[in-house]
This record gives sequence, C-alpha cells and structure tokens, in this order.
Amino acid sequence: MKDTFKHQGLRNRLVSVLKTKGVTDHAVLSAIREIPRHLFMDASFEDYAYQDIAFPIGAKQTISQPYTVGFQSQLLAIKPGEKILEIGTGSGYQTSILIHLGALVYTIERQQELFKKTQSLLPKLGFKPKYSCFGDGYKGLTQFSPFDKIIVTCGAPEVPKALLAQLQIGGKMVIPVGDKEQMMTLITRKSAKLFDKQLIEKCAFVPMLKDKSLKNFS
Ligand code: SAH
Repeated sequence: MKDTFKHQGLRNRLVSVLKTKGVTDHAVLSAIREIPRHLFMDASFEDYAYQDIAFPIGAKQTISQPYTVGFQSQLLAIKPGEKILEIGTGSGYQTSILIHLGALVYTIERQQELFKKTQSLLPKLGFKPKYSCFGDGYKGLTQFSPFDKIIVTCGAPEVPKALLAQLQIGGKMVIPVGDKEQMMTLITRKSAKLFDKQLIEKCAFVPMLKDKSLKNFS
C-alpha cells in the first residue's frame, strides 16, 4: 500500500477535526499529519483510516481512535529523548506517533499475533522502538525503569502498582481506569511516595487483560 496525495488530504482534514475536539499540541498534530494511519490497518479498510474512529485490527483488538491517540500524547507533553513505556502496542500506530515525537519507546503487547505483526511492520515504515516485547503490561519492564512517561492504551480495572513503581519522580502516566467504561486519568509522581491524580474525562477502551496463564484469559 502507498501513501498518496489523497491520503495526505484526508489526514489534513482529520487534523482539523481533532483541533475542534481539543487536540492542539503542534508536535502531536504534525505527527498525525505525517504518519500514514492507513498503513497500520488492513488494506481493505483504508477508507476508514482517516475517520475519527477506533477500528478492529484482529485478535479482538482495535487501533485507538485518532482523537484518543492525540489526546493521550498531548496529556503526556512528551519531549524528545524521553523514555516512554507503552502498554498495548496493538497496531503500532500510537508507538509510531511517540517515536515521531522523539521519544525512546519501550512497548509491550499481550497478543502474540499483534506483536509479530508490528515487529515486522514498524521497521518497514521507518519506526524503531527502543524495545518491544510480547508480554504482560501489568508487570511493566522493571529492567528498563524508571520511565519519564507511561502510556496505557487499554482500560485498566485499577492502576497497576508495578507501573507506578516504574515511573520516574516528576514523571507522568496516562491511563484509562475502569471496567466497562473508563476515566482517562493523568498521574504525576511528585516524590517517592506521593502521586497526584487528575481525572480528565470519560473514555472507552478495550480491556487491559491479565496474564495469559490466569483463568480469565480471552
Ligand atoms: N495503541 C494501540 C491500541 C491497541 S488496543 C493502537 O493504537 O493500535 C489495546 C491493546 O492493549 C491491544 O492490542 C491489547 O491486546 C493490549 N493489551 C491488553 N491487555 C494488555 C496487557 N496486560 N499487557 C499488554 N498489552 C495488553
């Protein structure tokens, strides 16, 4: 699949839509303007790529809605060179936006099929995460911690303690918290023991699932 002028035009239009919804960070908008989202989806669905909607990507998962990707990225106020942990690689689109923003991205995906897909897709598109793995996001990546920022792209029933522990002091985590419906939550680590929590807005994500060895795997 190619990236054409038509796709570019559709992206410009998508950026205008996201601005009206409150995504105003220039670096984030320019990442969305430049990265061909349709290449992260099945070719037969490319017509949907530049609508502001989430869309199935296989393994019962979805590529996040562009607004959500933009809004979560904006909340983290990413600076080039920052170390970011992403939970839920999915299609790799959000991963690529973070890399475009200059972040060093460490990303975890729990569905092997999706992990394998992004392992081959991202380098082809010129995006290289610092580290990507098939694993359980509830555990984070202790060996690479602390992280300046953490982004969780699936709905977590509660904030995983392991992730709080892996956040740098002064660092931020954006995480949708809740079961069926979630609250976008921004956590700032003020000190070793003090975390500031801001509830931002309601949202809906696919669930953050437990380790595959546990009973409720689906
Ligand atoms: N950022 C992705 C969003 C994908 S949807 C994108 O824009 O494409 C959320 C992803 O989180 C799914 O791929 C799902 O498999 C993954 N996920 C769910 N629970 C997880 C866990 N415990 N650890 C890692 N990934 C998980």
